[in-house]
Amino acid sequence: MTSHLDALENDRLRGFLRNAQADGPIMVVDSEIVRENYAKFARALPDTRVFYAVKANPAPEILQLLADLGSCFDCASVVEIDMALATGVKPDRISFGNTIKKERDVAAAFARGVRLFAVDCREEVEKIERSAPGARVFCRILADGAGAEWPLSRKFGCVPAMAADVLEHAHARGLVAYGVSFHVGSQQNNVGAWDAALASAAEIFRECERRGIYLSMVNLGGGFPTRYLKDIPAVDAYGNAIFEALKAHFGNRIPETIIEPGRGMVGNAGVIEAEVVLISKKSDAEDEIRWVYLDIGKFGGLAETMDEAIRYPIRTAHDGDAVAPCVLAGPTCDSADVMYEKAPYALPVSLSIGDKVLIEACGAYTTTYAAVAFNGFAPLASHVI
Ligand SMILES: *Cc1c(COP(=O)(O)O)cnc(C)c1O
Repeated sequence: MTSHLDALENDRLRGFLRNAQADGPIMVVDSEIVRENYAKFARALPDTRVFYAVKANPAPEILQLLADLGSCFDCASVVEIDMALATGVKPDRISFGNTIKKERDVAAAFARGVRLFAVDCREEVEKIERSAPGARVFCRILADGAGAEWPLSRKFGCVPAMAADVLEHAHARGLVAYGVSFHVGSQQNNVGAWDAALASAAEIFRECERRGIYLSMVNLGGGFPTRYLKDIPAVDAYGNAIFEALKAHFGNRIPETIIEPGRGMVGNAGVIEAEVVLISKKSDAEDEIRWVYLDIGKFGGLAETMDEAIRYPIRTAHDGDAVAPCVLAGPTCDSADVMYEKAPYALPVSLSIGDKVLIEACGAYTTTYAAVAFNGFAPLASHVI
């Protein structure tokens, strides 16, 4: 199979960009790559249902393609639920996976037919009891995020020891205590990262059983990586490691499972074409580093360069020429709008003002992270081909 990772060799993307003649930065997603990614997940985890994390890229064409392929959708808001429903899927293919919901949004989701909700505390269970009576809830537990390049910290989930209490609270209030969820951290490069969380999940299943509550489902979350500059394990390796961990901790009573890939579904499918606005130095000293300013930066869609966490592959028409380190920055008048400085980025010495560059693996967490009109710069233009 040809590698779609190299946008310069992807004729569909190249042809589109040539014709687009964009004046500003432009993102193109190749839907054929999304289709391949879906097939890889389905093959690697054949007994697991896919709930695409809509927030990674909610372009209607992507949602429609995934709906047609049989995907379900993990939504974090009523607007995302409506985007998923607009594909024609029934609400039983949608989960409201955000643990932090306004009660009126729970009611709005319930009115649309959504019956699967995430919780991580008793207070949220009580909102669901009042506004989505009888619904299924799964309890999110904390995972440490070790090995992830974009860890999800402590914002979501309770300690595993509290989960059985939260689920018992739900059960006592007429909800269906349905299962356990976790997220091992985004861009998770360690295929073994699911093991410890699955050990905790199995312990919660046993504790609930001791209380007469029989859970059904483990939500394995997202975390599946996209290839940026470093190689990543294949989806199959994740599938095998997860299956081994399920067997180790649940024995021959393997629960229903779902995954919520976001980045792994769309990341490698998108490329951004941007323009070099300025190349300059801060002094005339011989060894002074070049600053390369693009017409896209942290506020134009590259928010995940925060703390220099995600390092995108950047291709230029001068690749193969001698390279030298650069500070890479965006176009806005905010001094935070610098992508790579602590770890400078090597770019060709022959790169010039006005050149186009291709930023690869941009399909996830870019369009929706773009500011609306900061400094008058338009949000990132996005196309799906
Ligand atoms: C963001 C998110 C995901 C997707 O994570 P990726 O690392 O992009 O796969 C999955 N589940 C939940 C609950 C999320 O918030």
